[in-house]
Amino acid sequence: MKVLIVDDSKTVAQVIGVMLKEEHHLHLWAKNGQEAIDILKKESGIDIILLDWNMPVIDGPSFLQINKDQKITSIPIIMLTTENKCDKITKIMDMGASEYITKPFTKDILFSKIQMVLNK
Ligand SMILES: [Mg+2]
Repeated sequence: MKVLIVDDSKTVAQVIGVMLKEEHHLHLWAKNGQEAIDILKKESGIDIILLDWNMPVIDGPSFLQINKDQKITSIPIIMLTTENKCDKITKIMDMGASEYITKPFTKDILFSKIQMVLNK
């Protein structure tokens, strides 16, 4: 499996990267929505996108909106949220996110959500 991690936090990206690596999965890292768009335009074989909410340049919700308008990718997207974003979850699901994970999360939660999305 090849996962695109979109998060401005290097620490978060590294932690997720290690979780994926331990299970022999590949990952790419984009620091914001713009980098994600650039990667998606040249990289093939990505199975899942993990998308952070708050990021500079293009944040998570803006990325979803741009993707909805420009149809950049149909790869399933899992939104990474914080507790205080819970009331806005319906909105991002409407905008094209397949699932969401509340930070901080364990490896078990990450993989069960990925499995859930891939089985949809
Ligand atoms: Mg962030």
